[in-house]
Amino acid sequence: MKFTFVTLFPNLIEPYFQDSILKRAIDSNFIDYEFYNPRDYTTNKHLKVDKQMISGGAGMLMTPQPLFDCLDEIKSKNEDAYIIFPLAAAKPFNQNDAKRLAKKKNIVFVCGRYEGIDERVIEKYANEVFSIGEYILTGGELASTVMADAISRNVEGVLGNADSLVMESYENNLLEAPSFTKPENFQNLSVVKEFLKGNHSKISDLKNGLSICKTRYFRPGLVTNKKTK
Ligand code: SAM
Repeated sequence: MKFTFVTLFPNLIEPYFQDSILKRAIDSNFIDYEFYNPRDYTTNKHLKVDKQMISGGAGMLMTPQPLFDCLDEIKSKNEDAYIIFPLAAAKPFNQNDAKRLAKKKNIVFVCGRYEGIDERVIEKYANEVFSIGEYILTGGELASTVMADAISRNVEGVLGNADSLVMESYENNLLEAPSFTKPENFQNLSVVKEFLKGNHSKISDLKNGLSICKTRYFRPGLVTNKKTK
């Protein structure tokens, strides 16, 4: 799986791939990444990539020409390029998307800046658009990195223990049950006693119940009646 980031600010993204799990995944060739900078494609003699909005309004928009040329080049080099625009005004990205997209060969994230991107670029090139939350970021770099991280965990081989993916929040529309590690008592706070008794079927039932309680409390919209019976 290769991530291609189209961004004016590659330095905002690169450090994330230079440490921890994603670095190991790159070193082991499970994932890879590259950058394209729209500024390298602009025909503007001052290397500008933004202009004022035609309809008026505050702020600048990324102009179509550099992005059209950049994305045409990316597509001509890679027929597997699957182009995603992080946008505040889009459907929310979720764990099912992360799993589905982990099967793609090349995901291209087009990072907006300023007040965003001329809509014609999105209309022409977007395979999908996603928001990462109901707030406005200064640019698409963080949003793209968040999605690339969540997708990478689901690429085969990236997590040393694939079982880590099975009991996580959002599997079966539930949040993960509370988890504990040693010591069993710490500053008078103890772990759930049942977890210590070694009866795996009881522990599993209890975890399922706690998982449902936690989901009802924090994310009631996730739990369906059928799943809580
Ligand atoms: N004017 C835009 C709007 O109201 O929807 C916001 C533009 S924002 C300042 C600049 C860029 O940041 C966007 O083009 C997008 O790439 C990215 N961005 C901002 N918030 C985001 C979010 N919640 N999810 C995904 N991308 C976001």
